[in-house]
Parts: sequence; C-alpha cells; structure tokens
Amino acid sequence: MQANFSLPQKIATFQSWFEVYKVSEGTFAICESGHWDGAISYLIEGWNKAVLLDTGMGFGDIKKVIEQLTRLKVSVVNSHTHFDHVGGNHQFDEIAVFDDNFEIENLERGYAIEELKGELSKERLFKPLPKGFDLKTYRILPSKPTHLLKHEELIDLGDRKLKVLHTPGHSPGSICLLDTKSRELFTGDTFYLSSLLANLPESDFLAYSRTADYLASLTPSISVLRPSHDDSRRQPFAESEFLVRLEKACKNIKAEKANFSSGVCPYTGVKIRDYRFEGFSIWVKQETE
Ligand SMILES: [Zn+2]
Repeated sequence: MQANFSLPQKIATFQSWFEVYKVSEGTFAICESGHWDGAISYLIEGWNKAVLLDTGMGFGDIKKVIEQLTRLKVSVVNSHTHFDHVGGNHQFDEIAVFDDNFEIENLERGYAIEELKGELSKERLFKPLPKGFDLKTYRILPSKPTHLLKHEELIDLGDRKLKVLHTPGHSPGSICLLDTKSRELFTGDTFYLSSLLANLPESDFLAYSRTADYLASLTPSISVLRPSHDDSRRQPFAESEFLVRLEKACKNIKAEKANFSSGVCPYTGVKIRDYRFEGFSIWVKQETE
C-alpha cells in the first residue's frame, strides 16, 4: 500500500516540554524530544471517544495537553509498561494494558526515584524540565489497569477501530495498535528508527524475531508506522517497509550472519551485541562464553 503522509503540522501547547504534531486526521503525536529517550505518546480520536497510547515520562502534565487537544472522553492504552510510557497513567481513570503479569505488575508497582535517577542526568536532558517539576519527589505513581487487552481485540472509537496486536519481544506484553481504516500501525517499542532493545531482562529475542515475522506478513496492508520513540530531527513516522527489513535482520542474527559490535547497555549495565542495520540497530544480550 502506498504510504500517505503529509508533513505533520506542529501544534502549540502551553507546555514547551511536549512537542505536539498532528500527524494525520484525528491523530496527534506528543513528543518528549527534550529527553534522550525521546518518548512519543499518541492521541487517537474517533467520533465517540479517544485513546491515548501511552502517557509519557511523567515530567510534564500530559493530561493538560490532552485536554487542550480534545473534548472527547480519553482512555489510556499502554503499548507496554516501561517507565517512559506510563508516567502520566495515574492522571487517567481508564487504563488498558495487555493481559500479561509482567506488564500488570509494573503498573501496580510504579517506579521509585532510585530506578529513575539515571534518566535525570544532564547528558540525557536536551532542554529544561517543565516548570514545577521537582527532582526530589519525581517518581512514577502506581496505576491500576481497568481493562486487560487480548490479541486481535478491537477498540471501537466510533468511526475508527484499533486492533490490538500482541507483539512480544521487547517486553512480554508489548502490543502494536493497527488503525483498521487508515492502516497506520502504532508500533510502541517494537519498532522505531534507533536502537531496538531485545536485551532487557524481560526481553526475548526469539519472541522478537517471531513478532518481526508476523508484522512483516502484514506489511502490504500497512500505510505507515507510528513509532513510540524518535529523535527531534525526524518526523514521527517510518515507512512500513522497515518491518520487512526487521524480519530479515532478525533472521540474519539468528543465522549468525549479521555483523555486531560488543558494548554495554546504558540501561542495564549488561554486555550486549549491537547489530547495526540501515536505519536501526538491534541490541541482544551477549551470551556468556
Ligand atoms: Zn520499552
């Protein structure tokens, strides 16, 4: 399918921490490119209601931004539950996450400052944190899932339906959302144009590889990818063709035909293999000899 994307329109918000783009009709990307992680949340509007896919890093007030963008009732769907996707969850009443214990427990536990300190170092911040942000009290508050998602479940927004695709690998309960009308695929952390993390303690490279096979099989019917990370130099999209490249990359890693350099993961401090491909790389745990 031919990708149909015009240049996104930047929307001014009262909080400069969030950079908001209208990326297609009824779809807004809410970018936190002031941080090294560059998390992106998406507001997806239908006639009757809207979904907020992820709630960011918890540095700014994402709920206020959402209230500025829509009058619809908004329920949260988490692509998965790493801290940079659930930071504003506690501000919302309805929260859906994939039915997986790892993800549910992350939400219910939240994240303490001890786990987040490294994220606040000067090297990771490219612009001032929002006014009112307090380093000393920062944490991700626990939240309770009000709905547990299943594979291929449809989320009905009225004229627009989002299909839940279970795409484990990065984490066990990672999902993508497929807009069944516009054929945009919201990929979460399963695909973006940077280092893909298949090396975390909860990651599973073989599951990632199966996910890549599955997504590659859907590629002909996908118009564009809407990833959950990016850097400020790029627009929040990637061509769907990258899913085919991801599948090929995983196959080559499995067959030990891909080049890598060894390194240490800045998140876990554990040794990794950094496999580089055009446009993205994949981090896999270094097997201990
Ligand atoms: Zn993640």
